[in-house]
Amino acid sequence: MAGILFIISAPSGSGKSTLVSELRKQLSGVDFAVSWTTRAPRGSEEDGREYHFRSREEFERMVAAGMFLEHAEVFGHLYGTSRESLDEARRAGHDLLLDIDVQGGAQVRASMPEAVSIFVLPPNPKVLRTRLRNRSRAEGVVNEAELYRRLSEASKEIENFRQYGYILVNDILDRAVAQLEAIVLSERYFRNGEAIAYRSRRVLEVAAACLQTNSQERLKPVLEAFGILGDSRQQELNFEEESDDD
Ligand code: ADP
Ligand code: 5GP
Repeated sequence: MAGILFIISAPSGSGKSTLVSELRKQLSGVDFAVSWTTRAPRGSEEDGREYHFRSREEFERMVAAGMFLEHAEVFGHLYGTSRESLDEARRAGHDLLLDIDVQGGAQVRASMPEAVSIFVLPPNPKVLRTRLRNRSRAEGVVNEAELYRRLSEASKEIENFRQYGYILVNDILDRAVAQLEAIVLSERYFRNGEAIAYRSRRVLEVAAACLQTNSQERLKPVLEAFGILGDSRQQELNFEEESDDD
């Protein structure tokens, strides 16, 4: 494709959708692939904007017709990226962002190894829980079981971080948006030879610092907090110690 394919994965509630929408306000030429899902709309979500909401039967018909570039079951619902999204971005010569889970990320990397992959981490389990809870409150429904399910899946998803080229820790939003923008600009520069303003050379350094290979020290405390490095019981302890009113 003329543009670059970016895969963004993260545990639910890390702030992926927020980052993607902020990025698209700053940069032109980046399309977002609106996925198809069998889950019900949440809060103010609209069909065709956040997702194409469909029945399981319809989704399965689309799978059988080979319409998906990738698809996976996440939290008991089916999610998929249509091949059409890729074709549209290609026709427009735009970059394309896929907000997909780690299973989908692995499928896309297998068929399109040239894709750029970015994993977004929340700074620690406590912040993740607060974000999930705040989002549910803003949507007017706090479903404790669903919240717990998403939290307990987080560490399993994070274990896949090594499969991603870049790692963002979404702590301070403005900084994470600037890092994401730097990654896109840097990839455009290296892959497409796209000009980069002299004063913007700093973005190349920012992007390079987000490469997984350069992120060991930065990631250590985050991974430890999720029980991925060090004591494997840590994550359980972190969740238990939190109060409900944070
Ligand atoms: P995801 O798409 O990864 O599931 P969202 O983008 O929906 O996550 O973000 C989850 C919640 O966290 C939302 O309420 C969002 O406003 C909030 N949020 C996202 N990034 C930050 C941040 N850096 N600081 C504070 N809150 C954030
Ligand atoms: P949510 O229900 O919170 O919107 O999304 C739940 C999870 O499904 C997130 O990890 C999100 O990245 C993932 N997801 C959203 N769309 C797709 C898709 O098209 N394919 C795959 N594999 N995962 C998706």
